[in-house]
Amino acid sequence: MHEYHKAVDIIEDAVAEAKKKGYSKVTKINLVIGEDSGYSGDSIRMHFEDVAAGTICEGAEIAVTPVKTMLRCPKCHELFPRKPFHYECPHCGTEGEPTEVGHEMAMDGIEGV
Ligand SMILES: [Zn+2]
Repeated sequence: MHEYHKAVDIIEDAVAEAKKKGYSKVTKINLVIGEDSGYSGDSIRMHFEDVAAGTICEGAEIAVTPVKTMLRCPKCHELFPRKPFHYECPHCGTEGEPTEVGHEMAMDGIEGV
């Protein structure tokens, strides 16, 4: 169900952005979705079609930029991608700490006419 509400949020953001830019129709919405965000592009798209019907976002393409989950080494402060079952820093072998990278779910700009 949270995908439905997220789709509503995205459309509200896109409509506000379109007004700012003077678009009368949104043709494309760019999303950034982290692999640990709990959202998937497919489920957002599914709800998006329902929610967008009758709005200026109807028929807009949803472009998703996936973001890999990153860990930060507490020793050398390097950001590195988390691999399944491997949490060690590739430089010094220290176990990495979780970061916000990979948990994002945000609109990253729109295109329109
Ligand atoms: Zn390190």
